Amino acid sequence: MTDLPTGYDEASFEAEDTGPLPVLAIVGRPNVGKSTLVNRIIGRREAVVEDTPGVTRDRVSYDANWGGRQFTVVDTGGWDPDAVGMAAKVAAQAEVAIMAADAVLFVVDATVGITDADEAVVRVLRKSGKPVVLAANKVDDQRTEAEAMNLWSLGIGEPYPVSAMHGRGSGDLLDAVLAALPEAPAETDPQTGGPRRVAIVGKPNVGKSSLLNKVAKEDRVVVHDMAGTTVDPVDELINLGGQVWRFIDTAGIRRRVRTASGHEYYASLRTHGAIERAEVVVVVVDASEPMTEQDLRIMTAVEEAGKALVIAFNKWDLVDEDRRYYLEREIDRDLIQFRWAPRVNISAFTGRHMEKLVPAIEAALEGWQTRIPTGQLNAFLGRLVAAHPHPVRSGKQPKLLFGTQASTMPPTFVIFTSGAIEPSYQRFIERRLREDFGFVGSPVHVAVRPRK
Ligand code: GDP
Ligand code: GDP
Repeated sequence: MTDLPTGYDEASFEAEDTGPLPVLAIVGRPNVGKSTLVNRIIGRREAVVEDTPGVTRDRVSYDANWGGRQFTVVDTGGWDPDAVGMAAKVAAQAEVAIMAADAVLFVVDATVGITDADEAVVRVLRKSGKPVVLAANKVDDQRTEAEAMNLWSLGIGEPYPVSAMHGRGSGDLLDAVLAALPEAPAETDPQTGGPRRVAIVGKPNVGKSSLLNKVAKEDRVVVHDMAGTTVDPVDELINLGGQVWRFIDTAGIRRRVRTASGHEYYASLRTHGAIERAEVVVVVVDASEPMTEQDLRIMTAVEEAGKALVIAFNKWDLVDEDRRYYLEREIDRDLIQFRWAPRVNISAFTGRHMEKLVPAIEAALEGWQTRIPTGQLNAFLGRLVAAHPHPVRSGKQPKLLFGTQASTMPPTFVIFTSGAIEPSYQRFIERRLREDFGFVGSPVHVAVRPRK
């Protein structure tokens, strides 16, 4: 690693240490144009506009970039507009989305005007105290503009007339959104000394609420007036292993929200919201049942969100003594791509191995925050290249020039090269990084930047 690129400026990479992004939730009743607006905001055709109402949408968050600012958009569309008790359901759904958000974009159909469902959402918004931007959608032309102005009567400020479909007015709307969004999401800095944020997620019936009850019972639930903490009513502060933790959206786990239609979607929204807000996520799996796609999807969502991950195999008491060894081997195989995540085999029922949960969470957070000094990283890259150089292709062999860790939480590396690197070689670097430095419980990102 002698050939450093000249003019390299380390400080410019420190500036990329942006950390988690602020979250914008899009709420509103069905068919007002939320998905169309999300497409407009993220500038892609990805947040499909559903033709079939009530279709369960798995993915609800997207990264957006406007005017050089990055943020995460959480879409709350995708379920049955004809359900009974619609207004209440829209309001409940908005409540979940708002909980996870730093600001809210409330979409109303200006051509229809104010409905009961809209008013129900407004009540929730008022209570939340979160910044709100009001979009008067379907204002496709000058004529409809006057109707948008009727929305002043909702009492939540200026309506921004917009046509999600044609783009009219979307620039002004997005400027207003940026003004409402904080620079950084609330309470994300571990250095501020607030309690670390843990989410318990998993399929229905795996034992999330049993686990929470067990955890909350063994050590007293702390009263909510700890210095310097304001606690979301859906969260709980719990003293565990001598430390106070903030458990995210415990109300969602305890209350067990079930709606007749779209409840799977609703649960998925809640799960994604909790993952976004957490630093470390405990994915609970039922050890007495075969693992499913859904279990893996939840783990993948944690990885994609860049959060620390702990996998808890619950109901271990139901697994026969002599089957345990084989089950462990099966799990090793099924979870090959999450090999890096600490695993605990517990029983929320008997309390078995519950004491292993906190050390696993702590290990994952430590891996998530690991920073490798630049010198050490480059020594590692030097050793790696010496032992396993990139294969020669058409007479060319790209070199790794220099690497730096751009950020932590999760560890993210940028490696400068003299040419394009093959994907398999990039994966090889990632694997070796883990072998040398661990990063237990954390996703690791490696970006390669070819330089001239
Ligand atoms: P969601 O249920 O709130 O996500 O709404 P969708 O984005 O699925 O939109 C519902 C319907 O309204 C679709 O047929 C859209 O094409 C239509 N729509 C969305 N935005 C606009 C708009 O700005 N103008 C008009 N005229 N139609 C729109
Ligand atoms: P949730 O939907 O994920 O919150 O799951 P619950 O906590 O409601 O648990 C679902 C069912 O599994 C309940 O009947 C619990 O009593 C049972 N359960 C939870 N944890 C355990 C466990 O460790 N062992 C056994 N045998 N049953 C459990």
